[in-house]
Amino acid sequence: MTSQDTSSKTPIIVWFRQDLRLVDQPALHQAARTGRPVIPVYIWAPHEEGAWAPGAASRWWLHHSLQALGASLDAENSSLIIRQGDSLAVLQDLIEETGASAVFWNRRYEPAIIARDMEIKATLAEAEIEAKSFNSALLYEPGTILNKAGTPFKVYTPFYKTILRGSPPAEPLPAPKKIPAPKTVPQSLELDALELLPTLDWAAGFDEAWTPGEAGADAMLESFMSGEMINYVPGRNFPAKRGTSRMSPHLHFGEISPRTVWYRVKEHISVDSRPGIIEQGEQYLRQLVWREFAYQLMFHFPHTPEQPLRDQFLHFPWRKDPKQLKAWQRGMTGYPIVDAGMRELWHTGWMHNRVRMIVGSFLVKHQLITWEEGASWFWDTLVDADLANNTLGWQWIGGCGADAAPYFRIFNPMTQGEKFDGAGDYVRKWIPELTTLPIPFLFSPWEAPTETLRAAGIVLGSTYPLPVVDHKAGRERALNALSESKELALQAQGDSSAG
Ligand code: FAD
Repeated sequence: MTSQDTSSKTPIIVWFRQDLRLVDQPALHQAARTGRPVIPVYIWAPHEEGAWAPGAASRWWLHHSLQALGASLDAENSSLIIRQGDSLAVLQDLIEETGASAVFWNRRYEPAIIARDMEIKATLAEAEIEAKSFNSALLYEPGTILNKAGTPFKVYTPFYKTILRGSPPAEPLPAPKKIPAPKTVPQSLELDALELLPTLDWAAGFDEAWTPGEAGADAMLESFMSGEMINYVPGRNFPAKRGTSRMSPHLHFGEISPRTVWYRVKEHISVDSRPGIIEQGEQYLRQLVWREFAYQLMFHFPHTPEQPLRDQFLHFPWRKDPKQLKAWQRGMTGYPIVDAGMRELWHTGWMHNRVRMIVGSFLVKHQLITWEEGASWFWDTLVDADLANNTLGWQWIGGCGADAAPYFRIFNPMTQGEKFDGAGDYVRKWIPELTTLPIPFLFSPWEAPTETLRAAGIVLGSTYPLPVVDHKAGRERALNALSESKELALQAQGDSSAG
């Protein structure tokens, strides 16, 4: 009998990663159906993620999500083994300790992780350990949705239409009926030993906003489908109201699969009698497909988390300005809609999509600070920090990515505020020092008459900052930088053809 003989009763290790759930968990499902003992393991190995080890907010989420997964496995008479170290070494130790002859996992697509996993697969195969991976994170495996020329899409709408014309996503798998336990359960670290929770009391607001874990994901989707989904398209742009699903961290950590979301929404709209629900549900799924688009871009263009997709932006004359960067990070730019967004992020680990675009535009255009600084701050502070989506979002706003907003389109933070936070509820919620400032000035306090400011208890430059950059001057500087980048790109082209 070889160690790859599937009829054997040797255990299978199921390596949990960003798939912290039991439903539609292909690696777990396939392992459990063999009837062989299953050893679920989570390995904390942030040093293997290249430049993108999970940030502080992600670690907070991960702690709670692992706790929830552990409880779900306990309820099935199974047990989550937590270890830390080099993934390969930990797997080899576990194989040695348990006599396991197979390791199953679900694929991740970050460039550093693809490289690591390929190496692990090859090493295990050499040792005659069966190493099998599955798709569980996406509706479609990257590389399977291509244009007629057989190359990756760089524009969203044809990508989406191709998906609609093709086969529907695979149906989700049920949770295993039984997860056979090994005779001896290997030792596990206590979750606290990973030290994932922040030491300073920064995440208190996260507890109020979120319930990490599979049950939390399920409840969030259910409440969205029966509630806000009916008004998704008109409602999704207004940050003061809850208009979107807030599924992003749950999807990132794989507490629910996109296939489950897809089929649950389809089922819901087929029975919900509210007029318009079908169209709204389909529009929601269209948005979910942006996530697929982001992943296929990262897969085909693995340099993009660090470099712009469009070469012209390699030569963009970004400014280095640590003081201004800090003002942006702390929500102290003097532009209320920008500051409200940055403070929402700090307090809840999340920011509304419309406001992500506004604060992003302000950083890369008004402040002329590179999108990479923005991406890196988001990486540390978002509970949904996701390499594919964050890269797409920042390159979209920086004008340097696929299907991006042209750089010369510069969001006006005052009119964005007036349009999408007309009553000022969002700004007032996150910037208490402006609560009593009346609407005409709420998005541009520096224009308020002295009397109005005094009545509202505001001293600009003291209780609330003056603008870090003048809107018009910032706009002009950004447009000049764009022209300069074009010249620099031409020069670089000339230099390289001369050389
Ligand atoms: P909903 O509107 O309810 O959408 C449902 C799901 O569809 C989302 O959970 C998400 O998985 C997907 N989705 C929606 N919009 C997008 C989009 N534009 N791009 C990719 N997927 C999308 N999203 C992240 O998940 N992680 C990030 O790190 C991230 N960084 C971003 C950075 C910038 C600068 C910008 C402009 C956007 C970023 N986004 C990111 C995309 C988007 O803002 C969030 O996915 C969305 O706000 C999450 O809220 P929701 O779940 O309520 O969205």
